[in-house]
Amino acid sequence: MILKGKKGLVTGVANQRSIAWGIARSCWAQGADLCFSYQGERLKSSLDALVAGEGKTAATFECDVTKDESITALFAAVETEVGKIDFLVHAIAYAKREDLDGEFQDTSRDGFTTALDISSYSLTALAHHAAGVMNPGGSIVALSFIGGEKVIPHYNVMGVAKAALECSVKYLSHDLGKLGIRVNTVSAGPIRTLAAKGIGDFNKMLTISEARSSLHKNVDTSEVGDATAFLVSDLARGITGELVHVDAGYHAISFSFAEENNQKQG
Ligand code: NAD
Repeated sequence: MILKGKKGLVTGVANQRSIAWGIARSCWAQGADLCFSYQGERLKSSLDALVAGEGKTAATFECDVTKDESITALFAAVETEVGKIDFLVHAIAYAKREDLDGEFQDTSRDGFTTALDISSYSLTALAHHAAGVMNPGGSIVALSFIGGEKVIPHYNVMGVAKAALECSVKYLSHDLGKLGIRVNTVSAGPIRTLAAKGIGDFNKMLTISEARSSLHKNVDTSEVGDATAFLVSDLARGITGELVHVDAGYHAISFSFAEENNQKQG
């Protein structure tokens, strides 16, 4: 029960397949009290049903991260209804479908701005507001993907957004370190979620990652959830500005080596 007595705000639950939902379940299992933000009223009823299905109660708040007033209202409501929080999970990303297929060089100005605004800038805006309602020793975790470090075909503008997100985590960890707040990134392996549906050749990504990763498997949302629960707990009190890969070791292995090795074994 490493999160007993801790309160957290989890963003980004769209359905039971969401990585944020896996994180919520892991944090509950470790004793945390949670509240949630959701994007638009359409998602409220499914979130409420998921929470009830776990036998839990949780305050839920609407927030569209493209709107400053929505973010301000979220944290005002959290402070009033929940009080000070100990952690924030940022599990939000969006890019236009046409920018997640084909080549990066075809990205439009509008597509670039949209992806970076929702998937990267939103972390800075949420972290800035969260800091005002967070206890010292607080923790923020954002979700990234290997496409922010290396070229993954079709991930395109989202890779650029993830690079910006990962770098934002380092700057935020420095700024918020003064307040005793830690900021880290979890880079998850590919998982079939609603957001992943929009990425071209996603099934191929799953196949390649399973074949080439050191553990020869794909990860699931419970594995990402457990690592995130650790990072927001006091067990990780010495860790900030860090990028933790929860991808069965895929990031660590040389691709050409993995291919040659698999051919020999095959
Ligand atoms: P998901 O579709 O379940 O979650 C994405 C969430 O972003 C949704 O809840 C959606 O409502 C929210 N969102 C989008 N635009 C928003 C806006 N304007 N305001 C507020 N919320 C908004 O998909 P997921 O795969 O669970 O994604 C969660 C995070 O994990 C994302 O940052 C994603 O990039 C990251 N990630 C996913 C994978 C994967 O393979 N699925 C791998 C690594 C990292």
